[in-house]
Formats: sequence, structure tokens, C-alpha cells
Amino acid sequence: EDGEEEVEEYLFKVVIIGDSAVGKSNLLSRYARNEFNLHSKATIGVEFQTQSMDIDGKDVKAQIWDTAGQERFRAVTSAYYRGAFGALLVYDISRRSTFHSVSRWLQELNTHSDTTIAKMLVGNKCDLANIREVSVEEGKALAEAEGLFFMETSALDSTNVKTAFEIVIKEIYNNVS
Ligand code: GDP
Ligand code: MG
Repeated sequence: EDGEEEVEEYLFKVVIIGDSAVGKSNLLSRYARNEFNLHSKATIGVEFQTQSMDIDGKDVKAQIWDTAGQERFRAVTSAYYRGAFGALLVYDISRRSTFHSVSRWLQELNTHSDTTIAKMLVGNKCDLANIREVSVEEGKALAEAEGLFFMETSALDSTNVKTAFEIVIKEIYNNVS
């Protein structure tokens, strides 16, 4: 030992899933870079961003994966899910069909994972309350029935975005430590 302080490091993979255009990419860009894009286009190839946070004085890094638009073709591969310890299941509060899809995404997630996964149900676009099609109560009820955390967010005005990611990352940390 050279006397340097031993620093424990953690790196957790987190995946974002949900129907096309619910705001997955913008949630990630808001969290990781504080950016929002009104006309975001799907990029080619899987992308992730790494974000650090401090938990109990430990440096905890989350490698957060975003789909490259494969969800449009229901073609998210097992490689995308492999090794994930956390997931955000996102729907759009202004499009009921995306809420109906949540159970299918949950099933796909469970099929591809063999560990305990910290899961957050995310009702995104809560800034669009005037055209809401899914109530807060419905979101809460589904989350409770499936054992998920729940939060409504807005990638546009930043509501709860940081909190949603951090709750998942803290839960993973609690699961493994
Ligand atoms: P993805 O396909 O799930 O990755 O969705 P995107 O992040 O590409 O977003 C799809 C569209 O919804 C884009 O036009 C975004 O600008 C818009 N969007 C994303 N998040 C929000 C939000 O919180 N509020 C509103 N009003 N629009 C959003
Ligand atoms: Mg996207």
C-alpha cells in the first residue's frame, strides 16, 4: 500500500425503456447534460451516458442506456438488457396507449434479467397536464401492483428528472451493498 486512501467505486447499468416518443432520450439528456430537444431524432446504435453521484461518501456511477429507436420495431435486443441493475419504464401521460404498453415492457425486462432490478415507473410529459390521458392515481396504482417506484416527470421543464434517476441508483446501491 502506498498510503493512498482506498476509494470504493460502483458502476451500475441502468436501462430506459418504453414506447417510441415518450421522452426516453430527453430524460437522459436532461439528467446527464441538462439539455432538452424539441425535435430529437433517433440516433443509430445503442448509446449510454455515465453519470456520477455520491452515496454515503462513495462514488457511484450509473451507466444509463438509451435505445436507438429500436423500440419502434419492438426490436430491443437482449444485449440492451444484459447486466442491468436498474430500469426506468417510461410512458407519456398524454398518450394512453403508451401506458398500456408498460406491462409488455415490464415482461420483456423480466424475461431478460436474472437479478433484482430496481424499477421506476415514469409518467413523463407532466407539463402537458391539460391534455392528460392517464391520471396520477392510475400510474400509482399500476406501480403499486407491480412493485415499482413511481414518479411523474417532465424532461421539458425538468420536474423530478434528477430525483427519478437518483431514486433508482440509490435503490440499486441498497440492493448490492
Ligand atoms: P423517445 O423516442 O422515447 O426517446 O422520445 P424523445 O426523447 O425523442 O422525445 C419525443 C418527443 O417528445 C420529442 O419531440 C420531445 O421534444 C418530446 N418530449 C420529450 N419529453 C417531453 C416532456 O417532458 N414534455 C413535453 N412536452 N415534450 C417532451
Ligand atoms: Mg429515443
